[in-house]
Amino acid sequence: TTPAPTKAKDAAVTFDQVTKSFGEVRALDNVSLAIPRGEFMTLLGPSGCGKTTLLKLAAGFLGPDSGSVSIGGKLVNDVPTYKREIGMMFQNYALFPHMSVAENIAYGLKARHVPRREIRKRVTDALALVKLTGMDDRKPKQLSGGQQQRVALARALVINPTVLLLDEPFSALDKNLRASMQIELRDIQRKLGLTTIFVTHDQSEALSLSDRMAVMSEGKIRQLGTPLEVYRRPADRFVASFVGDTNRLRGELVSVAAADAVIAIGGVHISVPAELLSGARASTPVDLFVRPERLRLGAPGEAGTMAGQIVAQTYHGGHVDLQIACRACSGDLLLVRSSGDQAMIHLPPGTAVGISIDVDGCAAFPLT
Ligand code: ATP
Repeated sequence: TTPAPTKAKDAAVTFDQVTKSFGEVRALDNVSLAIPRGEFMTLLGPSGCGKTTLLKLAAGFLGPDSGSVSIGGKLVNDVPTYKREIGMMFQNYALFPHMSVAENIAYGLKARHVPRREIRKRVTDALALVKLTGMDDRKPKQLSGGQQQRVALARALVINPTVLLLDEPFSALDKNLRASMQIELRDIQRKLGLTTIFVTHDQSEALSLSDRMAVMSEGKIRQLGTPLEVYRRPADRFVASFVGDTNRLRGELVSVAAADAVIAIGGVHISVPAELLSGARASTPVDLFVRPERLRLGAPGEAGTMAGQIVAQTYHGGHVDLQIACRACSGDLLLVRSSGDQAMIHLPPGTAVGISIDVDGCAAFPLT
């Protein structure tokens, strides 16, 4: 009998304790990540956090200083890019301007000496997949930005890669085009069951596209989880602030019991699940991170509410954002988001309000 495969072998891509420095800069600091077959994994983080470096290690453009990279269960540290069966698409991964669409897509197949008849069929299939049937003979400059990006995607897919690597592929596209390309990419990726690593610094793109996401900062993975887990249970302050809009409220821990911890914020006592603050002692200062949609506005002076004053409001069609001055919010303005059909959208600046907190999905971190 064959032994049960290890977890790492089930993964399409594995980074094991990978470190990579450029001079003094440690771009990746002992990073481990296993990406199962068929998963859409996003690397999310601010500029310079190391996400592109991690992608380049998968691509073989760079080698790790220490640690290992495996694709399909095989160690690839010393395998060159062209032998890795990866499809790639980058923001500025320009098409060859003098070649037709079909020639651009066929390029990787020719390099692999695929027979001409098969090339023609696979190019036709790839064009159909990205909805560009019949565009074979156009030159890139005769295509829109979105169409060019589809050609780049077709070129990445046509070699039947084990892994698709995407680095900010849509950041040059306008908002609407970007949204429709995201949906199409996800659709194609699901259809093909293709393991994908997607790099972005755009948290909303990461939340909407990923099966799982790795939130990175300073060469480390700060949290690995589904979008829901990362949004609802951020692992630390960095993740809480970076992923999704949030409000940071400074309070003080009053007590921790078996089920609930009580925090005093702006003269109000708020109960949160004790597990959010396990190990913290009474009187410790605490930061409570509350999503803007978890704040409610009521009448000023209403029991259990914090006092605030509306500073500005912005109508967004589907929702309204209100900026509110509130003593508890560490000097910043509170952001309250409400659905656009409530009476509060007519509240003028200067209006006094009471703000209550729905603790569901809040995160709390003691200052130690
Ligand atoms: P961005 O979104 O801006 O591309 P990133 O998260 O992808 O950022 P990386 O490109 O991985 O970040 O870079 C991580 C760190 O390593 C940065 O401090 C960067 O300046 C540095 N770095 C990356 N490549 C090189 C290189 N070839 N030479 C020197 N330093 C580099």
